[in-house]
Amino acid sequence: MDDIIIAGGGIGGLTTALSLHHAGFPVRVFESVDRIQALGVGINLLPHAVRELDALGLAGDLAANGITPSTLAYFTKRGQPIWDEPRGLAAGYRWPQISIHRGLLHTILHSAAEAQIGADRIHTGCHLDRFVETADGIEATFIDRRSGAVSAMAKGSMMVACDGIHSVARRHFYPNEGMPMWNGSLLWRGLADGPPVFDGRTMLWAGHPRQKFVLYPVLDVPGGLQQLNFIAELRTDATELAEREDWNRPGDLDDFLPQFEGWVFPWLDVPALIASAPGTFLFPMVDRDPVERWSFGRTTLLGDAAHPMYPIGSNGASQAILDARTLTGCLLCHGDDIEQALQRYDEARRPATSSIVLANRGLGPELPMQLVEQRAPDGFERLSDVITPDEILDVTDGYRKMAGFSLQQLHDRPSLAEMQY
Ligand SMILES: Cc1cc2nc3c(=O)[nH]c(=O)nc-3n(C[C@H](O)[C@H](O)[C@H](O)COP(=O)(O)OP(=O)(O)OC[C@H]3O[C@@H](n4cnc5c(N)ncnc54)[C@H](O)[C@@H]3O)c2cc1C
Repeated sequence: MDDIIIAGGGIGGLTTALSLHHAGFPVRVFESVDRIQALGVGINLLPHAVRELDALGLAGDLAANGITPSTLAYFTKRGQPIWDEPRGLAAGYRWPQISIHRGLLHTILHSAAEAQIGADRIHTGCHLDRFVETADGIEATFIDRRSGAVSAMAKGSMMVACDGIHSVARRHFYPNEGMPMWNGSLLWRGLADGPPVFDGRTMLWAGHPRQKFVLYPVLDVPGGLQQLNFIAELRTDATELAEREDWNRPGDLDDFLPQFEGWVFPWLDVPALIASAPGTFLFPMVDRDPVERWSFGRTTLLGDAAHPMYPIGSNGASQAILDARTLTGCLLCHGDDIEQALQRYDEARRPATSSIVLANRGLGPELPMQLVEQRAPDGFERLSDVITPDEILDVTDGYRKMAGFSLQQLHDRPSLAEMQY
């Protein structure tokens, strides 16, 4: 088979490259930026995604460079406990959940790709500009983003577009889609060193959908401290974005810290933690409507290019990794008929991820926090007067099943790259 062109060297693109290379397919990655850098803040990998990275020999390195959380706990805006549940290994999964700095995850994938596939097959400064399908393949043109000059022309047997939420390939197939959609929520994301909260392995969500604080450790650091990833979220009534979203846009404390002033709990001083961070990044809660097709002939979409979703429920990176492994499985089953392989991939992944996009719009696993806020905005004496464990379990179990990481589902099937499609 001729080279498979992978447009975009983010989490999805590099995982796809590694997975296809492991399966014996020749790949080339074309990334828009000039230099792959360790950007972002914290990100979570759910057990089903870690399983797939384990199959690529990366899970040990990732776990050593992150934290494997054992609990997810919900609290009210006053710090009253609502719910906690075991996660990862503590919940009986054979694979852990991993919380890690996105930059470290990206660096680990990039180093593995350079070592295993070869640095000469990972081209930076190559922004996908246009592509055409020929009788037996794809011809793609890449440009230098700043000068607009052509930086590479590639011929391949097929193309996987992993070029993120502003995907050029997606725009080619859906030219009228326009900007991502915003639900009015703003997220200030940051990292601060601090003492472990609870057992140092707990991911916690406090508040409700209009005002929320999320905290999870991503690294143990010297002196018994941890690098703590936080997200402070405020919902506004606006829905028109003033400017295009950007993962690297700096945030301003004055815009959100005052609203969290009173969030001083016996177990965490939220405003002090936020104020101790060297800086924050401001990101709006954006996604796109699910589309009815990802695969067109010899081109397909993957990761955020295919299913941009709200960063709720730890699914952004995890679902891109599942896409990569499913695509590998489809090509292993139907490698002699690329179009059929890409159709099978589309059928296997698109409905599953469309459900997550829509569930995340409907609050996803955060619904219990909303119910408690509605029913007891001023707090409660006994939680059982407000919500029952069964009500909460219905939501959290349902979300796990829908996102494909219910324990039984995961343990009963082989790795996605080894399934029959
Ligand atoms: C700089 C950055 C920081 C992020 N930080 C966080 C974070 O802190 N927490 C979090 O949960 N998620 C973060 N994300 C998003 C997260 O990585 C994705 O939602 C998820 O991992 C899915 O991965 P993806 O590969 O589909 O998309 P991405 O990880 O966004 O990767 C897309 C890649 O494609 C490249 N690209 C874009 N256009 C083109 C083009 N035309 N041609 C070639 N290449 C192109 C981009 O430079 C990028 O490397 C960040 C994304 C980026 C790009």
